[in-house]
Amino acid sequence: MTNDEKINILQNLIQIESVNDHEEQVADYISSLFEPYADKVQIKKVPFTTGRTNLVVTMGNANGKHLGFSGHMDVVDPGNVDEWKHGPFSGDVDLDQNKLFGRGASDMKSGLAAAVIIMLELLESGTAIEGQIKLLATVGEETGEYGAHVLTQAGCADDLDGLIITEPHMDGIITSCKGVIDYQVTSIGAPAHSSRPDMGINAIDNLVQFYLAAKQLMDGHNEVNPKLGKMTHSIDIINGGKQVNSVPDYAMLKGNIRSIPEYSNDQIFKDLQKIVDDLNASDSKMNLKIEFIYPEVPIINGENLLTKLAQEVSDKYFDQILPVESSSGANDGSEFVQAKKQFPIILVGPGNNSSHGYDEYVDIPQYLNSIDYLKEVAEQFVGVSELTKTSF
Ligand SMILES: [Zn+2]
Repeated sequence: MTNDEKINILQNLIQIESVNDHEEQVADYISSLFEPYADKVQIKKVPFTTGRTNLVVTMGNANGKHLGFSGHMDVVDPGNVDEWKHGPFSGDVDLDQNKLFGRGASDMKSGLAAAVIIMLELLESGTAIEGQIKLLATVGEETGEYGAHVLTQAGCADDLDGLIITEPHMDGIITSCKGVIDYQVTSIGAPAHSSRPDMGINAIDNLVQFYLAAKQLMDGHNEVNPKLGKMTHSIDIINGGKQVNSVPDYAMLKGNIRSIPEYSNDQIFKDLQKIVDDLNASDSKMNLKIEFIYPEVPIINGENLLTKLAQEVSDKYFDQILPVESSSGANDGSEFVQAKKQFPIILVGPGNNSSHGYDEYVDIPQYLNSIDYLKEVAEQFVGVSELTKTSF
């Protein structure tokens, strides 16, 4: 495939406005690219909801090693469009800067395009791969990884021997990620005039008791994971009360935890739930409720073939062996790691810190280089029949 064609595929992806929705249009476009090879690929759509469909494209030989490539098809909102010099859904190319602009240029339509192009190039060249390559294109990663959840539940990741998530990160290979737990606690009280607080139930008073107990418990979680460091806990939103002379009958807080394997997500759910239950039991005027929102488990990889290959091959493309790194952010890997079989998951792909910002972009040479790099990793992982090996 020519460089212009590779750039064009990325532009077409960016021009589909899949802002937290409409991923089906992305899935349809990607499917159309595989149409010429309909007899060599299996295309499966796994719907999440109307207009939002995950896409799975599989090629190769079921008997060999199975490598997954995963990318999300949704993008975040462009924000104030007037702040963009290049339209957020333009896919504008600036040849002087060698950059391609638009929402998703970095996070992560370039990574998604890379995975698609790798498969198309292998099909185009008739390369006989010994194993299987599977594209897992997901919906709703940015708002809760629910596409990856649906695919994992459907068993689409159960056969994998390794998974590359092409999220934007080209300085290293991310092999471990903290888990994420968002939670919300609501406190229901009873209103009264503030001159007679004894007549009401102060929802803020009650919520604060949870706040202090949760903070004390979480602050004591001091164990350090050798790859991920310490877990973190932060209460970031607190609301309650309407006017200064009324006892508040409602208060709410939201907290965010970045978890490590030393304190499992299940244990944290139980601990926080116990605080709520104990407080409710201790005082009949206490009415607290806790809810957990799209929790994600941590990812930890030990030594494995995929990471080793991704490092070895990187030398040729980046003039250095990419270091192994860890991340405190959430991604689809937290869902795929819950597949029936264990397999290594790594994050590496084109992009940069412009993700989610104005004038999000990808460096075109980096984008093109990442395709060649990831293609060689894929070929080495699944194996390629010598006769059809492509030259690099
Ligand atoms: Zn992303």
